[in-house]
Amino acid sequence: MDTVRLNQRLADVVPYDPKYLPADCMLSANESPYNIPDDIRYEIRKKLKRLDFNRYPDPLANELRDLIAAANGLERENVLVGNGGDEILFNTALAFGGPGKKFLNTSPTFSVYTANAFLTGTEVVDIPRLDDYRVDELGILTRVAEGDIDYIILTSPNNPTGQLVSETFIRHLLESTDALVMVDEAYGEFSRMTCRPLLGLHKNLVILRTFSKAFSCAGVRLGYLLGDADVISEYLKVRQPYSVDAVSQLIGCTVYENRQLFSPAIQDIIAERGRMMEELQTIEGIKAYPSDANFILVRMDDADVAWQQLYDQGILVRDFSHTPLLENCLRLTVGTPKENKALLKALKRIARTRRRDEGND
Ligand code: PMP
Repeated sequence: MDTVRLNQRLADVVPYDPKYLPADCMLSANESPYNIPDDIRYEIRKKLKRLDFNRYPDPLANELRDLIAAANGLERENVLVGNGGDEILFNTALAFGGPGKKFLNTSPTFSVYTANAFLTGTEVVDIPRLDDYRVDELGILTRVAEGDIDYIILTSPNNPTGQLVSETFIRHLLESTDALVMVDEAYGEFSRMTCRPLLGLHKNLVILRTFSKAFSCAGVRLGYLLGDADVISEYLKVRQPYSVDAVSQLIGCTVYENRQLFSPAIQDIIAERGRMMEELQTIEGIKAYPSDANFILVRMDDADVAWQQLYDQGILVRDFSHTPLLENCLRLTVGTPKENKALLKALKRIARTRRRDEGND
């Protein structure tokens, strides 16, 4: 055959593209700018020497589940480990979505949610965020009151806009619906806020976290979910049996046991975010949105042109300028002090040149 029967459902699907290009300053993917501490790296190397590569891994990563459960005052049955938060997000759509099911989204937010809904035939009900990118609390509660929503994802802090969702609102929402409410805390460590205290009070709450950001392990692919044991059981029905490989489990356990070693880097990133925010506010033509995450969303005229100018100077940031509700926006990941300085200097230069050019018009 020189032809193949394609699935027409996928005809318009565009594969996820993080637009990862080589650059001196990688400030586009919300990764930690710091690699894992040397002590942890040494410990991992030691353990790797003893690993039975010929054996399948523990399908449920129970050692890591136990560590995470103990740290959160929960049981193993309340924890699910996944191949990155992304796997857990896909499994959410598989387990709680599907044809005839509805997912409530709050755009603009992480695009993977709607992509997963589409792939699983789940209908997306969008309640767009308000002008300052806070969630439309009343809009969500009103829509949920219709009683037909199956799952909701609230990203706190939100990617790519940076805002937290208020705990009071989340509590209110959990009481108003039996839909699964996922609070995606992928960036939670940079905010010092968590919905963890609400677990145990609400069966329909799950919390997603990742090793990719504060724990410097984006390259390893590890995420986890906290929730009611009955809810976690639903995830066990749809997940791939060996999605978390033995090397990742080993690394995950070592990193998690030593997680206090990441505190200084998290503090540095939070402090740098504050400094960046202050400086961004002094640059004419740039609006910076307050952020509780390790990135800052900015809006400026001709943001796509600015993106290219930054890239030409070796600085990669994320261009959202052609994304609905994020027109003319760039997302700047907080990097090392040196990287942030280079980024701010480049943005100031762009603003200066624009002012000069306008003066010449
Ligand atoms: N949730 C949000 C809001 C994210 O931004 C990301 C990563 N970009 C994830 C979940 C998934 O992260 P990972 O698969 O790396 O754990």
